[in-house]
Amino acid sequence: MSDSPTYGFDTLQIHAGARPDPATGARQTPIYQSTAYVFRDADHAAALFNLQEVGYIYSRLTNPTVAVLQERLATLEGGVGAVCCSSGHAAQIMALFPLMGPGKNVVASTRLYGGTVTQFSQTIKRFGWSAKFVDFDDLDALREAIDDDTRAVFCESVANPGGYVTDIRAVADVADAAGLPLIVDNTSATPYLCQPISQGATLVVHSTTKYLTGNGTVTGGCIVDSGKFDWSASDKFPSLSAPEPAYHGLKFHETFGNLAFTFHGIAIGLRDLGMTMNPQAAHYTLMGIETLSLRMQRHVENAVKVATWLENDPRVDYVTYAGLPSSPYAERAQRCYPKGTGGLFTVAIKGGYDACVKLVDSLEIFSHVANLGDTRSLIIHSASTTHRQLTPEQQEAAGAGPNVVRVSIGIEDADDLIRDLDQALAKACG
Ligand SMILES: *Cc1c(COP(=O)(O)O)cnc(C)c1O
Repeated sequence: MSDSPTYGFDTLQIHAGARPDPATGARQTPIYQSTAYVFRDADHAAALFNLQEVGYIYSRLTNPTVAVLQERLATLEGGVGAVCCSSGHAAQIMALFPLMGPGKNVVASTRLYGGTVTQFSQTIKRFGWSAKFVDFDDLDALREAIDDDTRAVFCESVANPGGYVTDIRAVADVADAAGLPLIVDNTSATPYLCQPISQGATLVVHSTTKYLTGNGTVTGGCIVDSGKFDWSASDKFPSLSAPEPAYHGLKFHETFGNLAFTFHGIAIGLRDLGMTMNPQAAHYTLMGIETLSLRMQRHVENAVKVATWLENDPRVDYVTYAGLPSSPYAERAQRCYPKGTGGLFTVAIKGGYDACVKLVDSLEIFSHVANLGDTRSLIIHSASTTHRQLTPEQQEAAGAGPNVVRVSIGIEDADDLIRDLDQALAKACG
């Protein structure tokens, strides 16, 4: 099927990138469980290695099942190309890799997934990269944090875990004025609720592990390229604009135009970093995406019901969910995320740390796991788990204080979820 922009989201989530298998007519995308692909002849092999012809060489670089997922995600996000990789964290490194170098920095929002805070504040230092964290509600602070060595601006659309939503357009304008690409982690919103590229983002990254796959089966990630950034407008991005020594001096932007970032991601990122998505994972994720819009509608509907009930319960201190009228981000949520702000929010319990731990242990339907975006409802006490390695200040900034639990509302019956929370709160708060 041609990916005509006249098709709606519900059609594209099922069909984009997929066509009946030319060899067998198989209607569902086969799992091409093959490491390598036979060259027609020596000239064909040479053309593939020279990137003069697009095709399959070796599955660390490209695989036909993964390619369908890449095309589907690029289509749903409104980008020109996508590169899938082994996890969401791999996608973040892969997104930064062509942009950064020793001494360069990324300016990132303080409101990020805990693992991303750790990856950016600690691990990337080993590459000579660094991150500066600022409050993206303070656009002046963002402008001031950007310096001559900044190579990217990074935020999440619907932030994990704090009930915060980013005004992507406003942030994109600042990045644009500084001549920098904006990278948006769209994991918690998914392209059904938010398409960051339409609001000015350059690159979109995902942990496909979460809502895109939707049922907690596989880890994966992807980077979608808008194709809109002019990598040659300055000398800041030599990997894309200048002769790339890692690919015999190829100039990616000059050669591949708006697909420069995607080609670089495959030809150098996957080739040399090797954080490849496997075809089984791509298969599960393709299955999940077929029902993305239906699930997200239910996640949002349930989250609104459960958050509203919790907010009115005397054992609860507060609920941070941008989908509630009481949220300080309610106006922004309505304006920027009109279909809803997802299924993720945090709940502060009056009994503090001990009550949170008891609550988590007393729930029957909710699973206590370090994951989100599953069909099942999930809960975690971030301060003792995912956000444990952060300082108390970082925990507070991320909305993960000791008295707070994060819930990922599933697509079960909302009334059952409320009953489960009610009985567990009774045990937790005495
Ligand atoms: C889970 C998550 C990640 C990391 O993804 P993995 O697939 O676990 O590596 C990054 N960002 C957000 C918002 C996430 O929820």
